[in-house]
Amino acid sequence: MPEPHGHLFHVDLAIEQPGDELVLALPVWTPGSYLVREFARHIEGLAADDGAGRALEVERLDKHRFRVAARGATVAWVRYRVFAHELTVRTCHLDGTHGFFNGAGLFLYGEGRLREEHLLEVVPPPGWKVATALAPAPGGRDPLGDAEGDPRDGRWLFRARDYDELVDSPVEAGTHQLATFEVLGKRHAIALWGRGGFDLDRLSEDARRIVEHFAGLMGGLPYARYLFIVHLNSAARGGLEHASSTTLLVKRSGFFPRDAYEETLGLFAHEFLHVWNVKGLRPAALVPYDYGREQYTRLLWWFEGVTSYYEELALLRTRLAEPKRYLKHLGEELTSLARLPGAAKMSLEDASLTAWVKYYRPDENSANSAVSYYQKGELVALALDLLLRRAGGSLDDLLRTLHQRHAARGLPEDGVEVALAERVGGSAASAFFDKHVRGTGRIDLDLELVGLEIRRRRAQGFDDKGGTPPRPDGGPPQGWLGATVGSGPRLTVSSVSEGSPAWRAGLYAEDEIVAESGFRVDRAALWDRLGERGPEGVLGLTVFRRDELVEVSVPLAPAPEDTLWVEPVASPTPAQRAAFQAWCGAPLPADAR
Ligand SMILES: [Zn+2]
Repeated sequence: MPEPHGHLFHVDLAIEQPGDELVLALPVWTPGSYLVREFARHIEGLAADDGAGRALEVERLDKHRFRVAARGATVAWVRYRVFAHELTVRTCHLDGTHGFFNGAGLFLYGEGRLREEHLLEVVPPPGWKVATALAPAPGGRDPLGDAEGDPRDGRWLFRARDYDELVDSPVEAGTHQLATFEVLGKRHAIALWGRGGFDLDRLSEDARRIVEHFAGLMGGLPYARYLFIVHLNSAARGGLEHASSTTLLVKRSGFFPRDAYEETLGLFAHEFLHVWNVKGLRPAALVPYDYGREQYTRLLWWFEGVTSYYEELALLRTRLAEPKRYLKHLGEELTSLARLPGAAKMSLEDASLTAWVKYYRPDENSANSAVSYYQKGELVALALDLLLRRAGGSLDDLLRTLHQRHAARGLPEDGVEVALAERVGGSAASAFFDKHVRGTGRIDLDLELVGLEIRRRRAQGFDDKGGTPPRPDGGPPQGWLGATVGSGPRLTVSSVSEGSPAWRAGLYAEDEIVAESGFRVDRAALWDRLGERGPEGVLGLTVFRRDELVEVSVPLAPAPEDTLWVEPVASPTPAQRAAFQAWCGAPLPADAR
């Protein structure tokens, strides 16, 4: 990292016994993030030599592969630079404060040599330290060691048993803060980069509770050491899972107030459960990883939906959040799905298969054409858990069984359905899959089992995401527009719901609404007009469509009851209370109604 301000990683790759020629390639994607990212576009200045001053000929074969004519050299040195200025959990970022990388974006692999041991030396600028879940090589410094026990000099030298482990172990180099804790005698660490209102001791203690919870649920910890890399930023939230680490992008505001902090802890829980669900147990279709092209599975709903479901449950079961938070979240997710025309068109299987071109490439038509395997998957995981609990089992048990049965070779495409059939019978299992996974039917949630029920109402504002009972000041029935408008300074239409009044009248995504009936409107005023005109009324909108001023007259319609919330039933039975407690590890809230 001699040029951090230029965002250039310098990579020197030494390949022993290269033979007469070898082909080197850079992955086009990184596991866990199903999008072809073409990392090779960031490579520059690639050249090769034999380490003794003799240049070796290099030929570029295609967008991401190179042939090196080694001609009997003992070692082929391939040297190149990689531009790294994209701060996401899947990419590489180097600047004056830190260098972060996922190996898939940085390290060429030798075709046919993925299974060989790889050694990595990281050479940061003076004063920087290095954190990674990779084990130190002999003589290397411990990246997760205590400050006192850590020698001030020595090399940052690591060993990966193969290329998969190398690129599955992101590296954070810089001036991050490091907190460590032990669970079951294993070292865990949080390496946190960026400024924000966090309390690292508190975060470390709460992360420990999450780790202990999942260790109990899954029966031990399947790694030697584990690292949470945390990047703070102001815009986005995200995570990428690895077998012995994770990278989390967290908002600086993600520590206060409590709601925001619980979201952050949920991200920790989500990525941590992936240690088992998508890493320890992988779709068989992704074994082994093919770094050169897309790999397809119908099971992403299981790996992301179930993990999202446990993200919420883990917070309840560790008492890091209260059941009322979960009921609100559940209502919001149900609302979001109820408002999504795409849910009637795309099944969970299709959502999984098309992740590469749909989920990871959303556009203004996504809401009308697609469904998220995270969001619907989470609700189907709940439906599955309730189905299993009705039959005397649980999703906990199914998760453990699948892990034990298939961790070695990967989860077959029909593995979940087969295991479900063993528990609830073949016809019930195939009916569940036909409706929820292969089909687009409404989700059957047997919430009565745990003393809950779903309620419905109309939206009470553009920002009304559901999850809560109606405000008492409902007023007269609103007219329904059927478009979502952004919350920025300009009133821009972000999507138009298929079949809605806005859709029929010809209001388009990206139209900028500037006036209604000749008067300027902002978001609040536009909502007020919907109340003023009512379901029989007409909105006279003036919009900028690209650079052209256009009039759009929208006859309104009665608003659908597409806003849902979940609350305890009026008089829960002892059996319902017991089922809720067994499920969430906390009592059914009495005052949520
Ligand atoms: Zn995930």
